[in-house]
Amino acid sequence: MSINVWSYLTEYEAEREDLLEAVDKVFGSGQLMLGASVRSFETAFAAMHHRSHCVGVDNGTNALVLALRSLGVGQGDEVITVSNTAAPTVVAIDAVGATPTFVDVRPETQLMDVAQLADAVTERTRCILPVHLYGQAVDMMTVRQVAHDSGLAVLEDCAQAHGARQEGRIVGSFGDAAAFSFYPTKVLGAYGDGGAVIADDEQVAATLRRLRYYGMEDRYYVVETPGFNSRLDEVQAEILFRKLSRLEQYISARRAIAATYDAAFAGTDLGLPTVVPGNEHVYYLYVVRHPARDEIIRQMKAVGIGLNISYPWPVHTMSGFAHLGQDIGSLPVTERLANEVFSLPMYPTLSASDQARVIDELLAVLTRL
Ligand SMILES: *Cc1c(COP(=O)(O)O)cnc(C)c1O
Repeated sequence: MSINVWSYLTEYEAEREDLLEAVDKVFGSGQLMLGASVRSFETAFAAMHHRSHCVGVDNGTNALVLALRSLGVGQGDEVITVSNTAAPTVVAIDAVGATPTFVDVRPETQLMDVAQLADAVTERTRCILPVHLYGQAVDMMTVRQVAHDSGLAVLEDCAQAHGARQEGRIVGSFGDAAAFSFYPTKVLGAYGDGGAVIADDEQVAATLRRLRYYGMEDRYYVVETPGFNSRLDEVQAEILFRKLSRLEQYISARRAIAATYDAAFAGTDLGLPTVVPGNEHVYYLYVVRHPARDEIIRQMKAVGIGLNISYPWPVHTMSGFAHLGQDIGSLPVTERLANEVFSLPMYPTLSASDQARVIDELLAVLTRL
């Protein structure tokens, strides 16, 4: 039997009854779009983050696009972010007509190097977009300080960090707005696409609601500013609402798996995840580093264990972003890490026996290198 880096099938087996009941509830409700389930999920998700508003949308990429638009970021503006992220972070900046500006990352955590932020601000900068990569928060105290000093908005990309905390405070509650993805692999995953934006400002929330609904007020059929169709699906919302009550269990399971990996590989030359003091990591991914990464992946694949690379190509090195003129070599830490990182199987229902096999095989590969 092969072991993959992620699978939802064992979770589905465990939660099948509840999930099918969710589908049946929506199908029998008489309202398939923007109904009671979207509202219930939005209310619960906003409350969990101590935010006034949550707007459910169709996916995490559009959550970022709509959030940027609602914060007034557009043509000619610059948004500071990182290049070692899922491409959609940067695709979203491009989609609103803004220009991404990249800062490098810290070698131990692979998170935004906030010490570089102040120098990256120009008169065109409008927003800082930190990515809580792999499940751990960026230093938000410094991000907020730089944003405050320069009059910038802060949009958190929380797609990998549902439920993560910093100094006891949950991510998504630090910025002017925060964007989430509920893509199935995420810490809070739907059974299809989904996303959300949370914010406190009433105007921002009203703009978000219009933008996800063609640009119209609900049931007021006049478009003032053209928007999109970015509605969160009612079935996915009902599933997310039920899974939200189990989020802490999912996170505990991920942490236990991470602790087992930490202990197993402590004496090896594998670079292990570093948790910054004050941060509570949720381990969306368990990412390790090794210079012989590609050989390790090849040998593990040969014994039926699939590993993954997040992310092999920093966004600024992709042909679609060549026009940004961000030279290869200009983000040395980001570029070096891209050649060394890989992730081990990580999902809440990964069995102890499967994890033990991953550990045994990887230890064997490491000693043979
Ligand atoms: C998954 C992800 C996204 C995009 O979310 P989708 O729901 O797939 O559109 C954006 N940013 C980051 C950091 C992600 O991991």
